[in-house]
Amino acid sequence: MAQNIRFAPSPTGFLHEGHLLSALYVWAVANIGGYKVHLRIEDHDQSRARPEYIQAIYDDLRWFGFEWESQSIQSERSCAYEKALQLLEKNKLTYACDCSRKSLLLENPCNSEGEVIYQGRCLNKNLEASPFTSIRLKVPTKTVYWSDLRLGAFCESPAAQCGDFTLKDRQAQWTYQFAVCVDDIEENIGMVVRGEDLRSSTARQILLMKLLGRNEPPHYFHHPLLYDPSSLLKLSKRQQSESLRAQKEKGKTAEELLGRTCFSRQLIRKEEPISLKSAILLFSKQIERYF
Ligand SMILES: [Zn+2]
Repeated sequence: MAQNIRFAPSPTGFLHEGHLLSALYVWAVANIGGYKVHLRIEDHDQSRARPEYIQAIYDDLRWFGFEWESQSIQSERSCAYEKALQLLEKNKLTYACDCSRKSLLLENPCNSEGEVIYQGRCLNKNLEASPFTSIRLKVPTKTVYWSDLRLGAFCESPAAQCGDFTLKDRQAQWTYQFAVCVDDIEENIGMVVRGEDLRSSTARQILLMKLLGRNEPPHYFHHPLLYDPSSLLKLSKRQQSESLRAQKEKGKTAEELLGRTCFSRQLIRKEEPISLKSAILLFSKQIERYF
């Protein structure tokens, strides 16, 4: 059975140029490796996700002409996450934690990305899970050896990187790390293509997938990000880079936006309109040596 590759935006805003870049990498790798594209709406964070942004993702992708074989929405998959959590609980791999946000920041060191490295304050407290607790994974002290197709080999220890991380938070929401692992297993994801800002999550996800029963992790390809040339900051919704939709409303065509993204990757010599098919082929050509 052909494996899937995923495109997994979060509906917390409209898609912007960083998403278009990511989509082109995903569809190019699908083209190179014969993967089927699965569209996953990552709305695990219900405090930030909004339904109108979900519809906008479908509409914007279709406007460019992207096609996908299957789709899923994380907020409809609670049963799957619950079942996966029960498996971990049965194997005594979880515990409840009642640390407040403040105490987490005060009592634990942070890694270079500003994430808390949880020191296990609640590990032996045997707290009853309640609406006031989060659920943490007992992260085994194991080294994970893995390889990124573009960036090479890594040897990392999630226990040292982040400690016992959260699977379900105090608001009873599934965390990104947990939902993604369950989804990557159940949605038959054989190839993960995503921005290199998510690279540091990889070792812990491989470890968690193993605890959930998947021994053979997906292949990983972390692509370079788009930078705002004026500030050298990563472009993101949070930095309010102009959405694709806003540019469309100002009269830009899909081909013009695709041309700009290809130009930003030096795939064409001057910024000019280009079809989606040609854009995917140019991206494929640039990265095929990695596969
Ligand atoms: Zn705690």
